[in-house]
Amino acid sequence: MKNKSPITCTRRIEFDAAHRVMEHEGKCKHLHGHRYVLEATFVAKNLDALGRVVDFGVIKQELGGWIDDNWDHTTILFDKDKALGKAISDITGQTIFYLHTNPTAENMAEYIMQQVCPKLFAHLPVECVRVRLNETPNCYAQIEN
Ligand SMILES: [Zn+2]
Repeated sequence: MKNKSPITCTRRIEFDAAHRVMEHEGKCKHLHGHRYVLEATFVAKNLDALGRVVDFGVIKQELGGWIDDNWDHTTILFDKDKALGKAISDITGQTIFYLHTNPTAENMAEYIMQQVCPKLFAHLPVECVRVRLNETPNCYAQIEN
């Protein structure tokens, strides 16, 4: 039973957001929206007393809550894109979420993996080991720990 890969649990979270990729060679430089699908995968050293890595409801509450508060129905922009962000929030009152990088699926997945999950799950004996973010049904970025 050596080298058996650990059991994981994965929660899928969908949200809607707008973004644009600054200096993109094609139409992704224009503001547009996606129905994003985020999948976060967790491992624990041991299963809990009930036999879980972490309750799926806890992932929904923590990560789903963060997504609801920070990304869902927002515009996600590179922090060099403040003029656009200001125009959008001035006109529509929408929240703008700024990243220190272009908001590609890759950078957004990395942000969830490296910045968001470690803080949200610090109080639990679990670790996020994979984040996959679909921008479309056909395109996703994935980061593994
Ligand atoms: Zn896009």
